[in-house]
Amino acid sequence: MRFDVVTLFPELFGVLLDQGVTGRALIRGVAELHLWNPRDFTHDRHRTVDDRPYGGGPGMLMKVEPLRDAIAAARAEAPDSRVAYLSPQGRVLDQAAMAALSSRPGLILVAGRYEGVDERLIEGHIDEEWSIGDYVLSGGELAAMVVMDAVIRLLPGALGHVDSASQDSHTDGLLDCPHYTRPPEIEGRRVPEVLIGGDHAAIARWRLQQALGRTYRRRPDLLERRGLNPHEQALLDE
Ligand code: SAM
Repeated sequence: MRFDVVTLFPELFGVLLDQGVTGRALIRGVAELHLWNPRDFTHDRHRTVDDRPYGGGPGMLMKVEPLRDAIAAARAEAPDSRVAYLSPQGRVLDQAAMAALSSRPGLILVAGRYEGVDERLIEGHIDEEWSIGDYVLSGGELAAMVVMDAVIRLLPGALGHVDSASQDSHTDGLLDCPHYTRPPEIEGRRVPEVLIGGDHAAIARWRLQQALGRTYRRRPDLLERRGLNPHEQALLDE
């Protein structure tokens, strides 16, 4: 899958290359990353990318032209990718949205800075607006990296067999069950017997029951949205 990112801070994306799952995926070619700096699309001596907002008010805004031309350059190389602006005003992404994104051929992600971007850029050159949560970041780069990380781990070949994403929280609408590793007892706390017994059906049943109970206690909103089949309801009621 191809990712193009329009950003004033391309060097920040080195983090993705240096980090386990995304780093391996990018090195192996499971995902590709192309960076476009709007400053490279300016034509004045100061390479200006921002200006004061009409009507006054604090801060600066990103100008249309350098962003527009950077997006056009990315679109020319990635014609099948839609252009998404990372924004606190966008649709809030969840795991289902990340899964849907992982089946696209590519994404062009636009990271804002300062007080954001001129509205006419959004109207004329952005296909979608996405938020990573109801809070405000200083720039869209971290949001773009969050999207990339969450999407890349879902791409075939990104994770090894041992850390398949299929059991992660939110994949089937539930939180993950608790997990344990050695030793079998520490500080008086023992690993649940069922996990040591080797009965795979019993282990699967216990894990599902834990996931249901945990989701019910911590995130009842998730269960309400997802619903339960009769087997799951019975496990939860036990
Ligand atoms: N004035 C803007 C507003 O209130 O909508 C916020 C601008 S914010 C300081 C600068 C940039 O950070 C935005 O252009 C956007 O790209 C990014 N950003 C901030 N919060 C975000 C969020 N929750 N999700 C995605 N991107 C975000």
